[in-house]
Amino acid sequence: MARQKIKELFIGTNNKGKLREIKSLLPKNIKIYSISKFNIKSPIENGKTFEENSIIKSRYFSKKTNQICLADDSGLEIDILKKKPGIYSARWGGKNSDFKKAINKVYRELKKRDKNWKLKKIKARFVCALSISNLNKVIACVVGKVEGSISNIPKGNRGFGYDPIFILSGQKKTFGEMNFSKKSKLDHRYKAFKKIKKFL
Ligand code: IMP
Repeated sequence: MARQKIKELFIGTNNKGKLREIKSLLPKNIKIYSISKFNIKSPIENGKTFEENSIIKSRYFSKKTNQICLADDSGLEIDILKKKPGIYSARWGGKNSDFKKAINKVYRELKKRDKNWKLKKIKARFVCALSISNLNKVIACVVGKVEGSISNIPKGNRGFGYDPIFILSGQKKTFGEMNFSKKSKLDHRYKAFKKIKKFL
């Protein structure tokens, strides 16, 4: 029997930047609900991978709201930092999600690792795991990745998080310098979305 199409979806994120991107990618016929109306705190993300953390969030918010929920867990992996900040990407910004602080920490860690890092190409990727859960049942979990490098100074004030220091392979501008519609069709979230679309 064909699965019923999803008509209503709760987006399990407290991150405004992510919410904006996810909303722009979802089919227009799906009614979207987000955390702002419900006043729900985020769960403890104690998974070891992006996929595990994404599922923790989609299950948690689905159980809290009694709705089918889509959640994202994403972050930046930097090869010479042994893939850090990785699943700790949000936590590097501290309690107040201060992204200037997170970017400064990236630069400090790179300098500790190699004082000439600015002269080199620092390979990095953005990773996004998207999952959809209905209460405890996981309907889908997919991963999207984009490869790139770290800019040696932050550039641009668009986007959010690590956007000002990430340069996608084949591009000259950082994500922070790109306009919203361009970035949201090139990034890790878009790639994951293409894979999860068939479950919506
Ligand atoms: P979490 O998935 O809520 O644990 O947070 C992921 C963190 O990774 C965000 O708070 C950002 O710091 C970073 N991040 C994820 N996706 C992006 C993006 O598209 N641009 C910039 N930073 C991102």
